Amino acid sequence: MTKEEFNRYFTYHQIKEALDGYVRAYPQFIKVEEIGKSYEGRAIWLVTVTNFETGDDRDKPAFWLDANIHSAELAGTTACLYLIDNLVTNYGTSPDISRCLDTRVFYICPRVNPDGAELALADVPRLIRSGTRPYPYQEDATAGLVPEDMDGDGRVLSMRIKDDHGPWKICETEPRLLVAREPAEIGGTYYRVLPEGRIHNYDGLTIHVPPAKEGLDLNRNFPSEWKPESEQKGAGSYPGSEQEVQALIRFIAEHKNICGGVAFHSYSGVLLRPYSFKSDDTMPAEDLWTYQKIGAKGTELTGYPSVSAFKEFQYHPQKVISGAFDDWLYEEQGIYGWTAELWSPQRQAGIENYKYIDWYRDHPLEDDRKLLAWSDSMLGGQGYIDWYEFDHPQLGKVELGGWNPLFSFWNPPPEMLQQEIAPFANWLVWHNLIGPRLEIQEVKAESLAYDTYRIQMLVVNSGWLPSYCTKQALNRNLVRGVVCEIQLPEGAQLIGGPDRQEVGQLEGRAYKNPSIIGWAGISSDTTDDRVKTEWFIRAKTGSVIEVSARHERAGKAHKSFVL
Ligand SMILES: [Zn+2]
Repeated sequence: MTKEEFNRYFTYHQIKEALDGYVRAYPQFIKVEEIGKSYEGRAIWLVTVTNFETGDDRDKPAFWLDANIHSAELAGTTACLYLIDNLVTNYGTSPDISRCLDTRVFYICPRVNPDGAELALADVPRLIRSGTRPYPYQEDATAGLVPEDMDGDGRVLSMRIKDDHGPWKICETEPRLLVAREPAEIGGTYYRVLPEGRIHNYDGLTIHVPPAKEGLDLNRNFPSEWKPESEQKGAGSYPGSEQEVQALIRFIAEHKNICGGVAFHSYSGVLLRPYSFKSDDTMPAEDLWTYQKIGAKGTELTGYPSVSAFKEFQYHPQKVISGAFDDWLYEEQGIYGWTAELWSPQRQAGIENYKYIDWYRDHPLEDDRKLLAWSDSMLGGQGYIDWYEFDHPQLGKVELGGWNPLFSFWNPPPEMLQQEIAPFANWLVWHNLIGPRLEIQEVKAESLAYDTYRIQMLVVNSGWLPSYCTKQALNRNLVRGVVCEIQLPEGAQLIGGPDRQEVGQLEGRAYKNPSIIGWAGISSDTTDDRVKTEWFIRAKTGSVIEVSARHERAGKAHKSFVL
């Protein structure tokens, strides 16, 4: 597809069409499978991208990528498809991409929650948080305001209603904006602001907004620090209770070759890393330093800052996020997991150094003006809609207007989408390339006597990360060491060393000091990234001997030679 073709959002059927197209055009690089079904029975697709001619995906280190677990966060799906396109079309011309597909794998789930996304992409969108399974209750609320496009223009905006006790008033210098009424102020014209919608069982006096019937948050349902609904909104019935979440857990747990992962969300323009629920002090220091290095590269390539979710991305200063996917990747699987929040309307509008969620609690009026000016000039006025009169069937004369968030705040407007997601392809390829990778550096056969040989194999981890990836994985006993094996032909005999030898983990370069001036003043680069295995065999000259080395994360290497 051309670059411009990524300036759009994909429906369920359009994703299928795009994936079918890639499978037809690039069968040597792409396989698509279904790893589960959504609550409403839609397929959850998984795209495997590697050069299958250089080996099976299971024998190579892998990187996980997914998107759209939250219904309206559609930009990530396009970012996944853009990466797939980039990989297959640049193989052979880009050295990094060629090396990446020859030696490594991407597992890409472009849409985790197809049910919620279809609602967001409908002609009259319904914006729900995540899955569509009714939760925590089956029934609709008996009364209250339910958001709805009341005037049939395809948008669900805000309603402002004149009310002497309202908390808002019209801004004197920019009448399109509302500002907070002063604490002791009376005597003006004040407004109450509610979502555009219909009030069920309206008593003519009170309006409340009940929680949506679709109260799940699939990204709070992962079995890592999972907390029940009383402590974590949207958590689900039990850890991993939702079938979309089960599909991811099953696939990732069964693919131990996965060394890192990114889940695309929107918005905020930030790279979030674990933990969400506790401070950096509790993370193994080597893992923290490595996370910081990977994040710094992400910032260099995408312009997005890299932060700890616990420190800088909390919805409430006294509450932590639990059951999140990236925490599960790191905490339970021992791999480097991230949440990439695509798109920042604030940054687009020229607001410097804004603080993600904190900004919504408090920010200067100047920032609202900047956003308004940005909507006027860059979004053709379609982001912020000036208030207009509407005859509400229940409330009488109200005004509709304010931010139309789906393609201004929550996702880039389509024409800005490709340029926003493009830099991620570089970071993801880089992140995959830093993973561990086993190679057989050398095999030696030394003749000791007439038909007796010593076979020596030198195995090396050529990656930057150690074979185990994280200290967390080691601490939790999640990874087995390197396994070296020899296979002899009929008639040959192993006389020394077991045919299968477990030789432990291999270090990478990631945990080395950043300078050769170590604490003792000198560097000491031992060969802890290599291991030697030895066998003694009796075999005829001309016999074909096979040796191999494999590691659950670092892949498989194999050599055969003639004596
Ligand atoms: Zn999200």
